[in-house]
Amino acid sequence: MGPKSMNEKTEYFDISPEISESLAVWPEDEKYRRSIQVDFKKGGNLLLSSIETTVHLGAHADAPNHYHPSGEAIGERKLDYYLGSCQVITVFQPRGSRVLPKDLKGVKILAPRVLIKTQSFPDPNQWNSDFNSLSPQLVEYLADQGAILVGIDTPSVDLMDDKLLLSHTAIYSRNMAILEGVILDAVPDGVYTLVALPLRLKNADASPVRAILIKGEISNQ
Ligand SMILES: [Zn+2]
Repeated sequence: MGPKSMNEKTEYFDISPEISESLAVWPEDEKYRRSIQVDFKKGGNLLLSSIETTVHLGAHADAPNHYHPSGEAIGERKLDYYLGSCQVITVFQPRGSRVLPKDLKGVKILAPRVLIKTQSFPDPNQWNSDFNSLSPQLVEYLADQGAILVGIDTPSVDLMDDKLLLSHTAIYSRNMAILEGVILDAVPDGVYTLVALPLRLKNADASPVRAILIKGEISNQ
């Protein structure tokens, strides 16, 4: 999927997977389900449906209360985290490993939001356990460079079997924000404007987001 156009000078990349009942979620988590209450096909006067789902669905923002008992819920988080200058950096890692600062190969950090492209979770509808994750060292390094949000194109900033949640914990201690499950395959490395606003869900530990990366000026047309 390549960039889409907003006007001649501006392109955007949709970095959210399609949400459907096929979308893979964490093994013990609640899959997305949509049920239809009123349907044209059944003689209804409109289409009306409802959904049940984990809040950790597709492209989503984790809230601090997901990984710390005194953390904020997603509806309380300030939106500045999820809106603004954002850098995409590709790494080449063996499957199932954490990304360390040295794996950035000296790339300069140019934005306060950083998305790490690992391509280790290639199909959002097909779960694989050997995805890459961040490392606490990388979190510390990015925080020291001024990062306020870190994201990754896998289901978690920690490895699947990490019950200590080492990267989540480092992110908590630096009061950063997390984006998980974004799709970066078509996005070249560079600096963009990120828009990935979570829903204002009271007490919730995450929210799905419609995440996009914008290249160029945002016009008010
Ligand atoms: Zn999550």
